[in-house]
Amino acid sequence: MRVVTASSQTQGWRDNDFSWTVEGELVFFTPFDCARGFVDDDCGCRRSMAGLVSHRGTTTMKVVERRDLDAETYFALIADALESQGYVTEDLLSNRNVNEWVHDLTDELIYLAASFPVGTVLERRGDMLSTRHTAKDT
Ligand SMILES: [Zn+2]
Repeated sequence: MRVVTASSQTQGWRDNDFSWTVEGELVFFTPFDCARGFVDDDCGCRRSMAGLVSHRGTTTMKVVERRDLDAETYFALIADALESQGYVTEDLLSNRNVNEWVHDLTDELIYLAASFPVGTVLERRGDMLSTRHTAKDT
């Protein structure tokens, strides 16, 4: 399946780029952004995605094909990351609404990744993801 991963490709294209994630790790949208944050603020949460494992942020992401993953495993990895990053507890994950919300987040990420060709480098601008580099540009 196609997924969104951390990538340092095109870092520096914007002055305020950063990539503290591990190259190639899966990334997601954290449940909370600063309420009054703007895309290019010092915090950066509205222009970045977070690594599931590193717990750190990156402003550049890449769409890759991961044949070792399926939607169920992907969901489990996202749920684990939410738990290890302190957003949910095991108890909360067994709550139907919370579980549904994690499924929605997983579906959103699957839908996003499927919307771009493999090799596309993406950046986040608030609620939007846009193409920074396509596989054909290389
Ligand atoms: Zn922030």
